[in-house]
Amino acid sequence: MKNNIIWGRQMMITGMLAASLLLGACSMGNTSYKADQLEEVTSSADAEGMTADDAAAASDAAGTGAAGESGKNGNGKDSDSGTGKGGAGKSGLQADRVTPTPTPAMPAKEKINFDPTWEYADESKIHTDPVTLWHAKGTKRKDIVVAVNAGHGCSGGDTVQTYCHPDHTAKVTGGSTSSGATMATAINSGMTFNDGTKEAEAVLQLAKLVKEDLLKAGFDVLMIRDNDDTQLDNIARTVFANNCADCHISLHYDSTAGDKGFFYIRVPDNASYKAMEPVASNWEKHDALGEAILAGAEESGVRIFSGGSIALDLTQTSYSTVPSVDVEVGDKSSDHSEAAQKIVAEGITAGLEKYFRENPVKDGALARLTKKSGSLSEKTVNP
Ligand SMILES: [Zn+2]
Repeated sequence: MKNNIIWGRQMMITGMLAASLLLGACSMGNTSYKADQLEEVTSSADAEGMTADDAAAASDAAGTGAAGESGKNGNGKDSDSGTGKGGAGKSGLQADRVTPTPTPAMPAKEKINFDPTWEYADESKIHTDPVTLWHAKGTKRKDIVVAVNAGHGCSGGDTVQTYCHPDHTAKVTGGSTSSGATMATAINSGMTFNDGTKEAEAVLQLAKLVKEDLLKAGFDVLMIRDNDDTQLDNIARTVFANNCADCHISLHYDSTAGDKGFFYIRVPDNASYKAMEPVASNWEKHDALGEAILAGAEESGVRIFSGGSIALDLTQTSYSTVPSVDVEVGDKSSDHSEAAQKIVAEGITAGLEKYFRENPVKDGALARLTKKSGSLSEKTVNP
């Protein structure tokens, strides 16, 4: 019995490592990276203008707001330079983990392409770019993937419409798209700070800081956007997170200008909305994740807005099958310097650690990706 359990764990770990390599070679996309050949790709995206207001215009007393996202058309590629070699290590932290047998080094990062067979994939209109899965290194690995979604930054997204809900019913709260609408902007371009900085630029800088903190803490990170123009609409980003991550955090600054503080978007207390799948099966997780991140932010010294949340019907929430939350870390008047964002990033990371301590991942994203790619366990495990 005990042997079976240990063997099972070894199989899972070995399978996951192999999966990562295998996926990098096939379904993970056209540009997989080996640990020793990480390259830096220069961003060619043009700066994006725009004005659309952040969906999460939430703030209004009206309590509406759509967590918007933005858009544009362009291209642009990875601007992060990879570092490091793949950490072969695994295991670690969790008490019940076993030390894996030596396996090939896990690459530091891999590209994953949009898969049109994924659930809700056909609801997305913009999904030509891949995302990047960064692997944590060393013994602190948690085998948990966090999707970090820097909001907006998709040129042309303003001109495309997608359904607000997977069953094509109407939105139950207002926002940049009003209550009652069945379709909304596929992804909007975000707000502009009082100092002229684009929200898309500020949240990308924050996303990179969050990524670094999460990797250090042992989380793998699915960077939904890591350049100025990523051709993925809000549904595509959500579908990527659903299939390749264990939770989804989208980063935004609100479109108000009172420097009111940090909050997250909770699920509206609306019976029909909470009865609609996949909201019905996941809304409690979304709100629990939001509360955990709020607590982490507060502990890190981030100023919190009012009760810390606003209820909105967001595209992200409506299509999420993993714990998912839109976080508004400030607004048009907030300090978005790197120093200020580092504190926010620490808070978000602390919140995610808290969430996953309380909600351990079973059969998580890495395991699911392994299964999807074939009978890896049969090929790699020698009982
Ligand atoms: Zn935003």
